[in-house]
Amino acid sequence: MAVTAPALVWFRDDLRIDDNPALRAAADSGRPVVAVYLLDESSPGIRPLGGAARWWLHSSLHSLSASLSGLGVRLVLRRGAAGTEIPRLAQETGAGAVFWNRRYGAAERAVDSALKTGLREGGLEVASFAASLLFEPWTITTGSGTPYSVFTPFWRACLGGPPPRAPIDEPETLDGWDGDVPTDLLGEWRLEPTRPDWAAGLREAWQPGEASAHRLLDEFLAHNLAAYDEERDLPAQQATSRLSPHLRWGEISPHRVWAQADLARRGAPAREAASASRFLTELGWREFCYHVLFAAPDLATTNWRREFDAFPWPPLDGDALSAWQRGETGIPIVDAGMRELWRTGSMHNRIRMVVASFLTKNLLIDWREGERWFWDTLVDADQAANAFNWQWVAGSGADAAPYFRIFNPELQAKKFDPHGEYVRQNVPEWGTDAYPEPIVDLAVTRKAALAAYDVVKRSG
Ligand code: FAD
Repeated sequence: MAVTAPALVWFRDDLRIDDNPALRAAADSGRPVVAVYLLDESSPGIRPLGGAARWWLHSSLHSLSASLSGLGVRLVLRRGAAGTEIPRLAQETGAGAVFWNRRYGAAERAVDSALKTGLREGGLEVASFAASLLFEPWTITTGSGTPYSVFTPFWRACLGGPPPRAPIDEPETLDGWDGDVPTDLLGEWRLEPTRPDWAAGLREAWQPGEASAHRLLDEFLAHNLAAYDEERDLPAQQATSRLSPHLRWGEISPHRVWAQADLARRGAPAREAASASRFLTELGWREFCYHVLFAAPDLATTNWRREFDAFPWPPLDGDALSAWQRGETGIPIVDAGMRELWRTGSMHNRIRMVVASFLTKNLLIDWREGERWFWDTLVDADQAANAFNWQWVAGSGADAAPYFRIFNPELQAKKFDPHGEYVRQNVPEWGTDAYPEPIVDLAVTRKAALAAYDVVKRSG
């Protein structure tokens, strides 16, 4: 007998229909399906999205809504605190079950677990699923049962256990609930910038949505996987997958990416198989970021290595911060990265490391300022990866680079952009009188950073 009370599928960081266990559970429950996305800007501790992320979310929801309606399900849009709005919608629809895929931030977990308890007390079936990570953070522990703080043994432990589950195919049809409830209109949320509309470069660089994520993966596997390990550090090439925003928003699942890349690896000659393994290891870094966040929920605000609390940051130099943000430091590779970020909402990984090192070590500006700027400007702004990587570069993070290894941006440019192609793409006035002089002396500021670090060493 068909069950008539619908199942509510609450979409969050999983804006896809492929390999979506919550959606699959709803389909398998025999209940009619109601889909909802909630713009939650009021639950305590949930970090508001940055500007570039809001831009992405708009198009991504547009795309998800189209896919769902192709399957006969309408995406309901609501705004408010989840603790109030989800039970309200469950009541309005007469839902008998609520399904979602898990989130890993502390505030999100608190919201979800309170909701789970409350809804169950109200007699609803509630289930949550593993969908956004290959390995649930709490399942990977050291011999003594503690979380890992170093990547290599963490990844060895992940690979030593059961492999990631196979991805689940998208449902061919769904039984959409045919009742009616109020929904917001996406445009009312004003996620896209208007006055001024700064998103032209983002639109040119990106096409949010599930179809585009799958296309990028296919293209990457066909054309770039084989040489990934040799070319991944060259910012002028499009040699990496560019999947990070799609993974951030869950438009493609890590299980799908893993399964396809692993398949390519298995069939490849040794050289290319090694390159594929390197790519899979990068997915491992994403896992590690979440593993660390799960154990240290305040990663975006608090030094993971607490001895860095003694770091003697000088008073904030607002002019230097603003020159860095605008890409006007007079250091070409740094400016190229910062302008790429502003224009496209992204930046090549190698250059992210260079600009982060320059901010924290040459300008002696606290990594949290950089983390906040990236949070606002990156389309892939991710609460685990952003905070983890900023702390990694600053030296205060888990498995961080030793502090004294301060990137020299000029050497980095010589090595990874030897013909200045990347710099010219992003800083057209480079080499002319219009280009500014460096705002700092790299050698002098390097020494000052090392002296500041001595304070941390002495306190540790
Ligand atoms: P590929 O090289 O194709 O790698 C495949 C996937 O592996 C990526 O899509 C990403 O999901 C994951 N990955 C690769 N490198 C890392 C890494 N170092 N840490 C975590 N995951 C990784 N990545 C984000 O997704 N969101 C962020 O907010 C973010 N902030 C960063 C801040 C700084 C200071 C630095 C140094 C790095 C940051 N990264 C962040 C990591 C990395 O720069 C991007 O994931 C990468 O540039 C994405 O490009 P891609 O998809 O082509 O990567």
